[in-house]
Amino acid sequence: MEKKNIDWSNIGFGYVKTDKRFVSNFKNGAWDGGVLTEDDTITISECAGVLQYAQTVFEGLKAYTTEDGRIVTFRPDLNASRFADSARRLEMPVYPEDKFVEAVLNTVKANEAYVPPYGTGATLYVRPYMFGSSPVIGVKPAEEYQFRVFTTPVGPYFKGGAKPITIRVSDFDRAAPHGTGHIKAGLNYAMSLHAIVTAHAEGFDENMYLDPQTRTKVEETGGANFLFVTKDGKVVTPKSNSILPSITRRSLMTVAKDYLGLEVEEREVLFDEVKDFAECGLCGTAAVISPVGKIVNKDQEIVFPSGMEEMGPITKKLYETLTGIQMGRIEAPEGWIVEVK
Ligand SMILES: *Cc1c(COP(=O)(O)O)cnc(C)c1O
Repeated sequence: MEKKNIDWSNIGFGYVKTDKRFVSNFKNGAWDGGVLTEDDTITISECAGVLQYAQTVFEGLKAYTTEDGRIVTFRPDLNASRFADSARRLEMPVYPEDKFVEAVLNTVKANEAYVPPYGTGATLYVRPYMFGSSPVIGVKPAEEYQFRVFTTPVGPYFKGGAKPITIRVSDFDRAAPHGTGHIKAGLNYAMSLHAIVTAHAEGFDENMYLDPQTRTKVEETGGANFLFVTKDGKVVTPKSNSILPSITRRSLMTVAKDYLGLEVEEREVLFDEVKDFAECGLCGTAAVISPVGKIVNKDQEIVFPSGMEEMGPITKKLYETLTGIQMGRIEAPEGWIVEVK
């Protein structure tokens, strides 16, 4: 199979249309079998549930080439079950988890020419999503839905090494207690746009959100979970019902415990104790880990001992071990790497 003529290392993070996408419709209470199509457009009612009341959920994962030349995805079964949880919370029909994984693998296979070669740092980003497609004017769930999966090649997240970022504690909240923070819904992102645009305008890379109820506990950023490392080498991640359960973060906690022999803790993390940590990172599919060098809260500045030039030593080990597992250089736990055949 011939690869597309793309400058893989320089494609950046925009949408690039690929050849095929998967589409399945839910109608009269059932999902159809779905098809792969070249049509990248959608025609729906002007009154569709998604357009009026934001009834839409999504997932994000990557397909990439391993060192030995296989095309694989990382733990797609966890995306499938999280997608089902998201759908249930917004009163949408669940797309069967096995069919979800099948649709992801088939869409990647159909766009194999866009899967970047090993060593470029680039990947094929996979975006499954679902939305209410039938008209809704009185507030209620739609009756019909569309599930789609498209792919788009994305460049290496860190060009020329992972430099620590600077974040601020946001004055805005991300997710209400007992709200929708734990699901991957477009609505959580719509309401984060103002916070991220103003953060960027003020020179910050990201927002740290605190729990809205007490504003004393660390939650997450707009699209990544926190990992902290204590001065005695323990890996700590915040626990809260309104954090989105990152697959990268869950995998890193397993790597910390089972591969690096570190102590791990998922617990409430007070903002007041953040200044005492040795390292801080943000975890998500896109970057795996982005090191955080500095956190600003009004006139308080926390600079981690690892500084603004490099990842902290344990963050770096975690990053190298997980990316080693993903790329096939280190043996993966059973079921983590799923090959596209
Ligand atoms: C997607 C997402 C993450 C990262 O999850 P991964 O499964 O690791 O990609 C973290 N926080 C939020 C709010 C997200 O939407």
